[in-house]
Amino acid sequence: MVGASLAGWNAATTLRREGFDGELTLVGAETEPPYDRPPLSKAFLATGEEAKVALGGVADSEALAITWRLGRRAVRLRLGDRVVDLDDGTEVAFDGLVLTGGAEVRTLPSLPVGNGVHVLRTVADARELRADLDRRNGPVLVVGAGFIGAEVAATCRQAGREVVLVEAAEVPLERAVGTEIGAVCASLHREHGVDVRLGTAVVGRDSSGAVRLDDGTTVDAAVVVVGVGVAPSTRWLEGSGLLLEDGVVCDATGLAAAGVVAAGDIARWPNELFFGDSMRVEHWDNAIDMGAFVARRLLAGTDWDPRAVFAPVPWFWSDQYDRKMQMAGRSTGFDRMEVAGGTLEERRFVALYRRQGRLIAAFGMNRPRHVVQCRSLIARRCPWEEARELAAAWT
Ligand SMILES: Cc1cc2nc3c(=O)[nH]c(=O)nc-3n(C[C@H](O)[C@H](O)[C@H](O)COP(=O)(O)OP(=O)(O)OC[C@H]3O[C@@H](n4cnc5c(N)ncnc54)[C@H](O)[C@@H]3O)c2cc1C
Repeated sequence: MVGASLAGWNAATTLRREGFDGELTLVGAETEPPYDRPPLSKAFLATGEEAKVALGGVADSEALAITWRLGRRAVRLRLGDRVVDLDDGTEVAFDGLVLTGGAEVRTLPSLPVGNGVHVLRTVADARELRADLDRRNGPVLVVGAGFIGAEVAATCRQAGREVVLVEAAEVPLERAVGTEIGAVCASLHREHGVDVRLGTAVVGRDSSGAVRLDDGTTVDAAVVVVGVGVAPSTRWLEGSGLLLEDGVVCDATGLAAAGVVAAGDIARWPNELFFGDSMRVEHWDNAIDMGAFVARRLLAGTDWDPRAVFAPVPWFWSDQYDRKMQMAGRSTGFDRMEVAGGTLEERRFVALYRRQGRLIAAFGMNRPRHVVQCRSLIARRCPWEEARELAAAWT
């Protein structure tokens, strides 16, 4: 198994639970055993409490008899030989391979990391960011208003920091939630005193440390956090014979090649529930479910019923200020959006998305119960009109 994080951990525990008693090796580039990333931009960033990132069961995993190869990076897959080469020159032979290498942060050439400029993917990144926030007083500049950038902005603002949030797009999160809801997300930050600058890109940094923006202004920030998305960790797999297209391309059951499966942020597969759209999902929930699914898929080998496909309703949450945002489904290709269960002005609502006459996604702000309900509706391919009628009763 390559990638010792959420998907890898869930695949490993599932393999043992399903009775696999062979050798189980977990290779992980980080020195930490698996931990939880979502708190890194929320509770851990706010408090620094290590317990916030603990992942259940990891501390007492001895019974699982895992051979841990932490702090080791896989550098080459020799598919024909059934061998993975590691960066210390050793190799791991396998009968079955689970690819759970997740994703790594993108950076900006105009804003190199270091000297007060941070990215946030690992607990090591979060520790450094926290230490720098403690060390350097003054404004925090967050570059990128995606969910992670937005959470960092909210956490820093709630800690009393002056925050500037810069986003190159005119509307943040437009691809995920559409223009109208993206605009609501931006307003939420403005209401909390964040200086939100949309349609603005970073062009570089002065020798004084001030960050230059393409509207001609500069931001003299004490700490800068770059949150401009991630890319799947597939570089080491180039030339291996696996199909790579913004992720490891799998079939609908998570199989990338005979005896090779992938799960979590690294995996791309056709989700039959969403018109067979090829998707790669960067959500906590997906890493858990897909990790467990592909472990069973791997064990079954050729006995697997090909009709048993991985077709979940993607789901994620984001906590910003006193708002819990949740999204069920995928809004890609939606042709209509309607708001139910509250109003945009109240910042308490569910936005419903339609595609081909079906409910395909729901984004909620402080509406957890309704989002859960929508998730079930999406799973059963609920017709749009039926979903609207149900939602009309939500207050
Ligand atoms: C700050 C932050 C906040 C988040 N908040 C939320 C949230 O609120 N809600 C939500 O749904 N999701 C959230 N996520 C996303 C969620 O954490 C990810 O979807 C999840 O961690 C994916 O798990 P994974 O196991 O697929 O990959 P990862 O967590 O990326 O783990 C992959 C592991 O594989 C290792 N690796 C990569 N390549 C190699 C190699 N060649 N050799 C060895 N090891 C390798 C990596 O070092 C890493 O440890 C957040 C993520 C971050 C970073």
